[in-house]
Amino acid sequence: MADDPFENMLAQMDRAEEYADVDHGVFERLKHPERTLKVTLPVELDSGEVEVFEGYRCQFDSARGPFKGGIRYHPTVTQREVEALAGWMSWKTALVDLPYGGAKGGVICEPKDLTENDLEKLTRRYTEGIRRMIGPETDVPAPDMNTNPQTMAWIMDTYSMYEGYTVPKVVTGKPLEIGGTPGRTAATGRGVSIVTERLFEYLERDLSEATVAIQGFGNVGSHAAKLLDESGARVVATSDVTGAAYDPEGLDVPTLAAHVEAGGLIKEYTEGTLRGASRDRTRWDEPDRIANEELLTLDVDVLIPAAVEGVITAENVDELRASAVVEAANGPTTVAADEVLTERDIQVVPDILANAGGVIVSYLEWVQNSQEFSWPLETVNAELERRIGSAFDETIVRYDEGDIPDLRTAAYTIALERTASAHEYRGLFP
Ligand code: NAD
Repeated sequence: MADDPFENMLAQMDRAEEYADVDHGVFERLKHPERTLKVTLPVELDSGEVEVFEGYRCQFDSARGPFKGGIRYHPTVTQREVEALAGWMSWKTALVDLPYGGAKGGVICEPKDLTENDLEKLTRRYTEGIRRMIGPETDVPAPDMNTNPQTMAWIMDTYSMYEGYTVPKVVTGKPLEIGGTPGRTAATGRGVSIVTERLFEYLERDLSEATVAIQGFGNVGSHAAKLLDESGARVVATSDVTGAAYDPEGLDVPTLAAHVEAGGLIKEYTEGTLRGASRDRTRWDEPDRIANEELLTLDVDVLIPAAVEGVITAENVDELRASAVVEAANGPTTVAADEVLTERDIQVVPDILANAGGVIVSYLEWVQNSQEFSWPLETVNAELERRIGSAFDETIVRYDEGDIPDLRTAAYTIALERTASAHEYRGLFP
């Protein structure tokens, strides 16, 4: 079960049912995606070979508004994973109260083995495959693992070519030049950093004395690391798929980020660097190399999984030494592990809250596209902080008032009640 993210999502819902004010019939309805499209994508690669890829788009729930959710390129994508991610998007948009439902897309591929030209062709072919489903008022994709603003630009262009006019609103996470918003790239990491600060305020602990380990140093992990480092926390370990770097005194996050932004891998990061005398440090030494699994069990205050799902499991949960987990990745904790974390009194800020910064700023981009008006970065960041902050506060109020075992269950009760209520008002068609 731990290996099946969809079963994991259902089990999380089941845990919340007891506490949620939701009719059982409606609750059962919420366990099924509205539809999933599977597409076959033949692409002639630069190598001259024709490779046939497979992709999916799942639209999980639209009772509260148009479908919204990212597109992932990864060799381990499956239909069940895409459906689980689409379900999580539905609960996330409901929890942070955006007028959206939830969706997700995925293509089974190894982007590292494809050229830029191959990726463009694959993206355009995938867009053609799902274009009858997506649209500015129906289903709005965004970036996820291994997709980025350039991918969104190709999707927007392909969709617009078929429509005969430019439709920026069909995707979010676009480059600024074609209707993107300032602040979108860093938004998920910024949200992770904001909820970590809020958690420490709630726990009456000092974040500037805290140590943090972050699994995954991609879009989400690197921005979370930079912002937490700026707010005074000590980021002592991070990793990518090639391995992890650890320095109990703290990593030089800006230098590491520059190394990764220039295309470097964590395993290739060798240089300790001088970064002035900030935080009483004049010298950053070369970090230790540790295995990715070891990062998860380091003795730190906060563990931030920011890579893939299913990394905190029944097998390793007893060895976890962090006192709090902030789930930047989607679905990083299995239900079996979750129960142990609750028993051990380790606070977990659940994914549907912790990583909601991305979809919040995607919504702000979509609103700006509708208004044909652009906002400055300060306005975007302030609105992000207000929205994720109030979702955090609501979750805490529910957790404290409701005799609910953990923050995930509290967040789920809010999200499921909102979605169920939308279904009840709308009624059953026909
Ligand atoms: P990304 O592709 O930019 O980065 C992923 C990082 O994880 C990379 O450093 C990669 O090397 C590393 N990684 C991959 N597999 C790993 C493994 N098995 N062990 C250790 N590290 C591994 O992706 P991202 O956009 O940063 O997304 C990361 C997670 O955050 C995903 O779960 C995604 O669904 C979630 N998320 C992303 C966004 C967003 O706006 N990008 C929004 C919400 C949630």
